Amino acid sequence: MSLFIASLNSGSNGNCYYIGNATEAVLVDAGISCRETERRMQQLGLDMARVKAVFVSHEHIDHIRGIPVLAKKYRLPVYITAATLQHSGMALGGIPFRALEPVTIGSLHVTPFTKHHDAADPHSFVVSCNNVRIGIFTDIGAPCEQLAHHFSLCHAAFLEANYDPDMLENGRYPIYLKNRIRGGKGHLSNLQALELFNTCRPATLQLLLLSHLSRDNNSPELVQELFNHYACGVEITVASRYGASKVFEVDGKWRGTAAQAAAAMQLPDRRETLTQALQAYNTGRKARKRQQTAVTQGNLGFPE
Ligand SMILES: [Zn+2]
Ligand SMILES: [Zn+2]
Repeated sequence: MSLFIASLNSGSNGNCYYIGNATEAVLVDAGISCRETERRMQQLGLDMARVKAVFVSHEHIDHIRGIPVLAKKYRLPVYITAATLQHSGMALGGIPFRALEPVTIGSLHVTPFTKHHDAADPHSFVVSCNNVRIGIFTDIGAPCEQLAHHFSLCHAAFLEANYDPDMLENGRYPIYLKNRIRGGKGHLSNLQALELFNTCRPATLQLLLLSHLSRDNNSPELVQELFNHYACGVEITVASRYGASKVFEVDGKWRGTAAQAAAAMQLPDRRETLTQALQAYNTGRKARKRQQTAVTQGNLGFPE
């Protein structure tokens, strides 16, 4: 049986991910308002009646903003650890979960596992149904063994590609914020995400949704281009911070060619892959920088 997945929004302004089959669905996080969640679900032809639960990854506002109203209005159980609930400040009765203990919602199985992030008790999730597995991997300061393991079993994944290291370094953020983002408890960079993709992806991976992109320290075109270079038949898309993605059907069947599957499994060794990726990436970045410089110079007479 296929799973249907969509990002309703992805980024520091709000995260909400839909994963469901023909009869039931879950939301992972609900960080946009209840009204906006409803609007985007309707726009995608997704029925709120199918949503049976919300799972909360951590207490940051971009992951919980819509939960109190949504949970009350639709009487949704909210799966959340005690520490996350306590730090969230939400007045609701959550249902606790434990890492590596799957929660069953109808025919869906949701497996939480811990991750590195500056929150009280942060978790990633894998949602599975009949051996089709979807990973929801955002807000991760550094990759870990568990992430590599779970990613290597997925048929589709929302994977964080939050920032370009140079854009972050040269950007306008104060130093404490730069260090928070890249310090191992913040977010995954484009290159950390790429390394995970190139070294741990399974032959069965159909779809990668690059997620939680920074508005200031990243560029959707740049990330798309970087990953396209190594797609080898995997559908790559960027989950937007300004709207919902389309609904993707994930059936666990490979849709690329046999040659692409073989190429994916024979990617050059890790170091060579990363070197090639970096070259392509830097070329793209230089081109963008030239564009930006041209724009800035064109605006010199009109300071903001
Ligand atoms: Zn976040
Ligand atoms: Zn966070």
